[in-house]
Amino acid sequence: MNAKLIRIALASVTAATVAFAEGEAKAPAAVPGTIRMITEATFPPYEFRQGTEVVGIDVEICKAIAKELGKELKIEDVEFDSVIPSLIAGKAELAAAGITVTEDRKMKVDFSHPYVRTGIVFIYAKANPFEKGEEAKGKRVGVQNGTTSADFVREQLGQEPEMFDSPASAFAAMKAGKVDVVIADIDPAKAVIKGEPDYDISELLTVEEYAVAIKKGQPELLAVVNKVIDELDGSGRLDEIKDEWTAKAEAAASAEEVKAAAAPCGCVPCTSADCNKAACGCAK
Ligand code: GLN
Repeated sequence: MNAKLIRIALASVTAATVAFAEGEAKAPAAVPGTIRMITEATFPPYEFRQGTEVVGIDVEICKAIAKELGKELKIEDVEFDSVIPSLIAGKAELAAAGITVTEDRKMKVDFSHPYVRTGIVFIYAKANPFEKGEEAKGKRVGVQNGTTSADFVREQLGQEPEMFDSPASAFAAMKAGKVDVVIADIDPAKAVIKGEPDYDISELLTVEEYAVAIKKGQPELLAVVNKVIDELDGSGRLDEIKDEWTAKAEAAASAEEVKAAAAPCGCVPCTSADCNKAACGCAK
């Protein structure tokens, strides 16, 4: 258990509560006729692609925020390490991508009340299990670029991680023998090992919380976002959304498996629409 991350999580709850008390829950004039959500859609069940559409828990939360504002939701899909810089650059009003609240990020953006309590885990081959953080010292550890998993490898293991553009591509690299173990957030980790009987996940290595991020200095927008999250949480709707999209992500993963079996990585260089790019470890 990582004491620093627990402190970060608790500090974020306090900061968000103060912010909510300061602002009235009304639509800010600065938000145009559409409201843009920036995300990174390789993170089931929070955000993933069904055909060309980006769907998932975070999308449902942002749709509810858009509805409260009387706006139409538009979704921008970028690499995870571009999500916060793009928000700061004004490319979207909301960032929701399973984003963990951290002290570093809190210096750059404002976070809503948290909507998930979670953490990161090892994904390992059962023949080569990893349970405790220190067991990965000196090993090749695959992570998604820009994530708290990458921070964990640097801060707790004192080494550089191997970077990938999604949990699924890091997992594909492990299957190909390019890394020894992968670290990812528990929910996408569960999605990745679904239908993979030779692989498993560890206990949580950290305690983290996800929140929606917005550009700093917008107390009215922050109040609306918090109001929506509090209402979804209080009414039980948030739990329904989580259950619904966890089941849908599992069904989508099974469909991908069938597709991947029909069109394995023979489609290299991965230009075919049928190619399961994530599972084949190909670039996006
Ligand atoms: N929760 C992790 C983080 O914020 C990973 C998020 C992601 O990859 N979408 O760093």
